[in-house]
Amino acid sequence: MSKTDQNELHSTISQQIQQKLSELAELVSLEQYGEQGPPKELTFREIENVGYQVGQLAAQKFEAAATRQHQQHFDDPQACPGCGEFCQPQATVQRQLLTRLGPVELSEIRFRCNSCRRSFFPSTRVASA
Ligand SMILES: [Zn+2]
Repeated sequence: MSKTDQNELHSTISQQIQQKLSELAELVSLEQYGEQGPPKELTFREIENVGYQVGQLAAQKFEAAATRQHQQHFDDPQACPGCGEFCQPQATVQRQLLTRLGPVELSEIRFRCNSCRRSFFPSTRVASA
């Protein structure tokens, strides 16, 4: 990750969240290594490996929580991407999505268009560039 990427990442995350993440990092270190902290013989590489795993897990938990909250926007009928007809939600389905950080469990509301005979998931549409 370049310096520019890091600056962009930090600018989209509030100071309050950064503070909470710092506090969480202290708690995770305490849980991982105990009151005495990492043992003397531990290398930075070993600390980095744990940090990477913690970061992956945190991102997966965040993505699952945010997508679960995002679902509330899709309780109402949604327009079919094929014909534009408004369709009722059919079911909530669990799906494992492979993200850049690994698999994440998502629940999505499935809609069914009877005219097009297709199902669609408006909450997981991909923004076009
Ligand atoms: Zn349709």
